[in-house]
Parts: sequence; C-alpha cells; structure tokens
Amino acid sequence: MLQCRTLKKTAGILAVAMSLSWGAACAASEDPARDRLDEYAAYIREHKISDFGYPANHDVQLEGFYDWLVESGAYKAMSNNAGDPFQIHGGHLNALAFEREVIDFFGPRYGFDLDNLWGLVTFSGTDGNDHGIYFGSKYLEKKTKKKPIVYVSDAAHYSNMRLVDLQNLELRLIPSDAHGRMIPEEFEKALVTDRPALIVFAMGTTFKGGIDDQDAINKILAKYPSVEVYRHVDAALFGGYLPWTTFKNAVNRKFHPFDSIAVSGHKFFGIDEPAGIFLTTMEVKQNQNPFNVTYLDGSMPMINCSRSALAPLKIWWIIQHVGAEGFTQQAYGMLFRAAWLESELRQMGWPVWREKKSNTVYFKRPPEAIATKYDLAPDHDDRLGGDLSHIVVMQHVTQEHLQEFLDDMAAAAK
Ligand SMILES: *Cc1c(COP(=O)(O)O)cnc(C)c1O
Repeated sequence: MLQCRTLKKTAGILAVAMSLSWGAACAASEDPARDRLDEYAAYIREHKISDFGYPANHDVQLEGFYDWLVESGAYKAMSNNAGDPFQIHGGHLNALAFEREVIDFFGPRYGFDLDNLWGLVTFSGTDGNDHGIYFGSKYLEKKTKKKPIVYVSDAAHYSNMRLVDLQNLELRLIPSDAHGRMIPEEFEKALVTDRPALIVFAMGTTFKGGIDDQDAINKILAKYPSVEVYRHVDAALFGGYLPWTTFKNAVNRKFHPFDSIAVSGHKFFGIDEPAGIFLTTMEVKQNQNPFNVTYLDGSMPMINCSRSALAPLKIWWIIQHVGAEGFTQQAYGMLFRAAWLESELRQMGWPVWREKKSNTVYFKRPPEAIATKYDLAPDHDDRLGGDLSHIVVMQHVTQEHLQEFLDDMAAAAK
C-alpha cells in the first residue's frame, strides 16, 4: 500500500498520463487511510470489553445522533458555542439553546434552583475543575480583597494540583486516610485563619473512590466564622451516577452546601469524547472578572472562547433518549455489580475494599498475568498491605465479564 502511494506521487511528477496509468493500477486496492482506520476500529472493539480499570462508559449509544448529524447535513458547518450560554440568545451557528437546556436539566439534580443557576458544558472534568478553582478564587478575592489558599487532599485527582499551580495559587495538600478521604484533623492543622479558604472536595478519588467528609470539614470551619469559604466539588465520575440513586443527597447542595461542581460527560453519561458540565450559582457568576467582549454580547466569564457545539448536542441527545429513568437503571446496575464483585472477592479471602457509594472496587494486586489481561492500573499503599489494583464497574463491565475475572482469580489462587 505504501508502495502504491509512493508510486502515485512519483508518477504525478513525471507525467499526467503516467499518473493516470499508475492511478488505475492502484484504484483497485482499498483506500489506505481507510485501512488504517479499520485497524484502529478493530482494536477499539476488541479492547473496550476488557477495559476494567478506567472510569469511562464504553456502552456509547449515539448511533441515532450520528445518523441525524449526517442525514441532516448539520455536520457540513462549523458550529461554535463561544460565549455565555445564558447571555447569548440567538446568534448564529451555535447550539447554545441546547447547552442551556442541558444545564437546566442537571442543575436541580445537584440542588441548584433554576433562578440561581449558571453553568456550561465543559471540555472535561479538568476543565470543570479549572472553572471551579478560577471562579472560587476570583469570588473570594472580590469579597475579601485577599488571595485564597486552596485545600485539596493528597488523594484527589492530580488535575486539581496542576490547576492550582497553573493559576498561581497557594496550595495546602492535606493528607488522606487509607481509604482516600481528607483527614479532618489534618485540615484543621493546615487551615490559615486570616486568609479565605477555597476547598476542593474530592467526590470519588481516582483510585479508591474515597469521598471527603464534607460535614466533618464544615464542622471545623464553623469554629472559624471569620474565614470566608468557597467549596468546589470535584465529582467527575461519582457526580454522574449518584443523583439517580438513594445516595443522591451526597451531591445535593441543599444537604451539603457547595458553590460549584464539576462532572465529566464521558465517564458516566456516555459521551464518546471528553466533555463535562460545570455548575455554579448566580452569585458566584456575578462576582467574576467579566472581560466585556462586545462581539459576544457582553460578559465572558468562562475561560475558553470557542467551545464545542457538538458536545452539548450529544449530551442533550442522551438526556432525551436515556433520561432520568435510564440513568437510574444504569446507576443501580453499576452499584449492584460493584457490591457483588466486592463480596465475591471477599469470600475468596482476597483483601478488598469499597466505599459504599462507590462503583470502584479496590483490592490486593492480582498476579501480573491477570492485571495485564484486564488492564488493571497499579497503586501502592503500605497501610493496605502494599500493591493494589482496582476495577471501576462502569456500564460495559457486565456480570459475565466480572465472572470471567473472578474465575481467573480463583484459578490463580489455587
Ligand atoms: C477523571 C477525573 C478527573 C479528570 O476529569 P477529566 O474529564 O478526565 O478531565 C478529575 N477528578 C476526578 C475525581 C476524576 O475521576
């Protein structure tokens, strides 16, 4: 194939007639670019089944969306959601109306009232955390004329540490316990009482699915009423499924006060590329650095200028076709299978742990052949006996596949 392409090129330089004859010789063979893509697709199809170690939903159901996109011809234009979805009504070649509907659909699920809600569809969970940390620091600075200190647990997703660095803020990294939760006493020790506090709560740490105890931290903060506080919740994975379960109050700001939350769109919700949502209150939004941009109808509080119009359309499509009922079924299915996997491993006598709201089961690292077969990410914690692995029980991780893993484990343990 490579040869065919090279020959074509050479022929083109030599003479048109020759090029045509070379072209004819090559025309019978397939499009080499298509061949490359087919190889890629075969790899994806084969490997997604055993992708156990990473929090993505590989049960993507966007066929109807892609049919619409091609059949309608909408794909033949570059749509762009630049600007504030709640400020710009109309405009052209954007899907901002759909983005608003997406935010309005999700807002109340996290305890935001519709008349006190602002948000956007982000590029990712990281982008949502970027907004949370940026909005939080500007909000606190406006209120107190002081730069805040950011508090994050050392088990939180690294994006938070990266973003604090990027935004040139001061960080206090708080030690976490063996199960990935910020230690409240350590938080109190680190608290600087003459500076505002920007706290990033981890709602599902990456490896152990640890959830920071917001009530315990809030109790400590209540002892220092002069400290102005902004709370951002990093709920990239857990924020997707918790609202549809009996644990829904854990991500509801009416029960656990927070100022903003970031959730990934490609982890639970089943978008096929990185995306997410960021939600906050009007008060926070109104206390930002507005950067008035006249050609975008006024204020531009968000970090990015151009933003995807396709991601909001995809998540809107998923809301219409999966909806609250589908999300509920999927969420319970995941938690059920996670609890089952945990109990099967425990019965086998294999050291295993799981936070009860979590779909992430973590356990003593299996023999290398099994870890490789199921692509299990490694971690290490001496408090739990050394090397660890985890399985993130997403929609595509079926009981049948987990049974195969358990059979492999049982065989190896003999
Ligand atoms: C995955 C994850 C992130 C990063 O989100 P991206 O969408 O991958 O950028 C941040 N925090 C937590 C808790 C995560 O699980």
